[in-house]
Amino acid sequence: MTITNEAVLKALSTVQEPDLGQDLVTLNMIKNLEIEGSHVSFTVMLTTPACPFRGKIEKDSKEAVLKVDGVKTVSVKMDSDVPNDGRMRGLVKTPIRNAIAVGSGKGGVGKSTVAVNVAVALAKAGARVGLLDADIYGPNTPTMLGVEKLPPPNGPRIIPAEAYGLKMVSMGLLVRPGEPLIWRGPMLNSAIRQFLGDVEWGELDYLIIDLPPGTGDAALSLVQALPLSGAVIVTLPQLVSLEDAGRGLNMFKKLEVPILGIVENMSYLELPDGTKMDLFGEGGGAHLAHITETTYLGGIPIDQNVRIGGDTGKPIVATNPDSNVAKALTDIAEKIAQKVSVAAFGANTGFSINIVE
Ligand code: ADP
Repeated sequence: MTITNEAVLKALSTVQEPDLGQDLVTLNMIKNLEIEGSHVSFTVMLTTPACPFRGKIEKDSKEAVLKVDGVKTVSVKMDSDVPNDGRMRGLVKTPIRNAIAVGSGKGGVGKSTVAVNVAVALAKAGARVGLLDADIYGPNTPTMLGVEKLPPPNGPRIIPAEAYGLKMVSMGLLVRPGEPLIWRGPMLNSAIRQFLGDVEWGELDYLIIDLPPGTGDAALSLVQALPLSGAVIVTLPQLVSLEDAGRGLNMFKKLEVPILGIVENMSYLELPDGTKMDLFGEGGGAHLAHITETTYLGGIPIDQNVRIGGDTGKPIVATNPDSNVAKALTDIAEKIAQKVSVAAFGANTGFSINIVE
C-alpha cells in the first residue's frame, strides 16, 4: 500500500512538544518529509539544540510514524533553529538571537564558572555561542578557557578568540596583563558601548555575558547597553549570599530584564560513600526562587575538579562531561536554553507558553 504524507503528518500530530504545549505539526517543526516505499524519513526542527526533551521527541515521533499502516522503517533527523527574542540590539552589527546575562550579588560565588560552562555546554549541543566576559573587576574567563590573546583585529573590529566551539571576548584581553581596569561613570559607559559595538561576533544563537558582580555602575551600564533576553543569578546557599543575590535580582527586575532563574553553586559536597554534605546550609537558592517567584534552575555541587579545570583552561563540561557536577551544569544550560526559546517562540507566534519544570 502507498503511504501518504497526510497519514504520516496525522501520526506526527499526536506528538507533543512538552514546552510549547502543541504538537509537532501545528508547530511547523516537521521538515524534509520523504517517503520511499515502506521507509519514511523527516527532520524535527527544535527551537534549541540543547532541548532537554530532544531524546523523548525523537523517540515519540519515530514510534508514532511506525504505527502508520505500511511503514516498516523510520529515520528521524533532529535539527534546530533557535528563535530570535525580537529585541533590537542596534549596537551589535550581526544578529545575536538571544543575549543572556549571568550575574551575582557578590564576587567569588562561581558566576564566571557558571557562565563559561553553560556557554560550553550550549556550544557542545550544537548552538552558535558567544561569551562576553564583561567582568571588568575580575576578567577570568580567558584563564578558564585557556585563551591567552585575541586574534589580530580586523581594522577597528575586534575578532573573538575561539575555544571549545565558542567565540569569546574578554575585557581582560584588551588591556595589558597587570594593568588595572579603572573605568568609572560616563567613561565606563562609553567604553562598554564602544566595546560591544566593535566585536565581530558573526551570527549567534546565544551570547552569554559574564557580568561584573553586584549592582554597581559597571553591571548597570552593561545591562542598559544591550537588551537582554534574560538574566541568570548565581548564589551560594548561605543566607548572606542570598541577600546579595536578592539585591542583584531586584536590579534586573527594576530594569525590566526577565529573570531566567537562580543557580545555587557549591550546594553540597559529595562524600566518597555517595552521601551529600551541606557545607553552607540547604535549599537557599530554591527558597530565594520561591519567595521571589522566579525559577530555580538547579544546584551545582562542590568539586575540586571545577576549580582545577578553571585554573587550567579546561571547563569541566568539556573535559569530564560524565561527572555529576558537569551533568548539573549541562542540565542548567538546557533549562536556560529552553526558557529563552520558549519565551522567544511565544513572542514570535503568540503561542501560549508552558514550561515543564
Ligand atoms: P565569580 O565569577 O563569582 O567571582 P568564579 O567562577 O571565578 O567566581 O569562582 C571562584 C572560584 O571558585 C574559582 O576558583 C572557581 O574555580 C571555584 N569554583 C566555582 N564553582 C565551584 C564548584 N562548584 N566547586 C569547586 N570550585 C568552584
